[in-house]
Amino acid sequence: MNPQNNDCIFCKIIAGEIPSKFAYRDDDVAVFADINPAAPVHLLVVPIKHIASLTTMTDADALLVGKMVAAANKVAKEQGLAERGYRLTINCGEDGGQLVQHLHIHLLGGRPLKWEN
Ligand code: AMP
Ligand code: ZN
Repeated sequence: MNPQNNDCIFCKIIAGEIPSKFAYRDDDVAVFADINPAAPVHLLVVPIKHIASLTTMTDADALLVGKMVAAANKVAKEQGLAERGYRLTINCGEDGGQLVQHLHIHLLGGRPLKWEN
């Protein structure tokens, strides 16, 4: 499978060009390990389709983003995070601290998380 966007590291992971550890994958969404984990569980939930950022999503992508949240919750439960809880974060743009321009939800858990901003 060729990456949808050859300049995008997450498209390359989705296409299998860069090896990664997948926790979940279906036709719409993939979940894989963050290379620099900030918590005992740190996964990235991405749409298979290349969407650069929340600012470039359209209303037609709303169902897809809902599927991302549902996949995150499913994986969180599988990883044993349901009882103590977890955090989903989407960084958007420069001020939001977004470094990779392929929409992703950070799934963080496994320790108490402080609110840092
Ligand atoms: P953000 O700052 O929200 O764009 O987050 C980008 C995240 O992607 C960071 O947490 C990085 O550790 C992670 N990351 C960068 N390159 C890779 C990679 N090759 N595989 C997995 N995660 C990555
Ligand atoms: Zn991409």
